[in-house]
Amino acid sequence: MNKKVEWDIIVPVKLPISLKNVEPGKLHPSLLRDIPQGGKLHYLAADAWNAMVDAAKKDGIELKPTSAGDTYRSYDSQKAGFLKRYQLQPIPGQSTKTFEGKTWYLKKGMAMLATPGKSQHNLGLAVDIHTASDPKRLKWLIANVLKFGFSWEVVPSEPWHIRYTEGDAVPQAVKDWLALNPKPAGMFGTPAEQKAAAEAVEVKKSKPKVIDVSIAKDKPRIIKDNKGKAVKEAQELLTKHGFQCRPDGDFGPKTQELVKQFQKSKSIPITGEIDETTWAALLS
Ligand SMILES: [Zn+2]
Repeated sequence: MNKKVEWDIIVPVKLPISLKNVEPGKLHPSLLRDIPQGGKLHYLAADAWNAMVDAAKKDGIELKPTSAGDTYRSYDSQKAGFLKRYQLQPIPGQSTKTFEGKTWYLKKGMAMLATPGKSQHNLGLAVDIHTASDPKRLKWLIANVLKFGFSWEVVPSEPWHIRYTEGDAVPQAVKDWLALNPKPAGMFGTPAEQKAAAEAVEVKKSKPKVIDVSIAKDKPRIIKDNKGKAVKEAQELLTKHGFQCRPDGDFGPKTQELVKQFQKSKSIPITGEIDETTWAALLS
């Protein structure tokens, strides 16, 4: 099971001093910075991320988070995600986590999620990269993450999850990038201005979209190794949603991986099958 992968690159995280006495998920807005693709990161991680995104772009590789929620996560948003995926009612054989003194069971078909306050997303140091296991993107990441102070945390099951490890020692490649891309003055504003801006964003955030499964009622359930027209249609829809997929009408391992990533990005159960919910998400 412990298959060795090429991206087995794990560097322990050195905490920036600014995070030493900070409660995870409760970072002061002055420590966070918006990143251009949506979401926020700790300012040191944001610099490193922006530098890496630029370098990748020069090599024809697009790097972006799977969603804005897969960058910094507040304690409350991590808790909401946790409660969606874990339940108190025991499920035999499912993995468990302890939270608030109780044992929680991972719901069937759900991907594991760190306990609220325990994730490096709660420190603004972690990003989940959109379609990270796309071979070209992964190859680029393997060759470059360390230079920008990033590495993986969970190998081999989470190729998308990288975190900034270098604390206050800004890597040279990031320094070089900062020299060419000086930060605009007043970017952060006063703490009060930042707080107001953060609250405005909270209010603007709309409720998660409820998926109407009825639009998928005529679609067949597709499981691995299925072939045909419906598979081709699903592959084309995956591509339309940004998960580049060859429309060969064959539901092989590559398509399945993209389906899982698509499901993760939509926060629907990660089944690796194209069921009614997945069809509905693909069609909407
Ligand atoms: Zn992650």
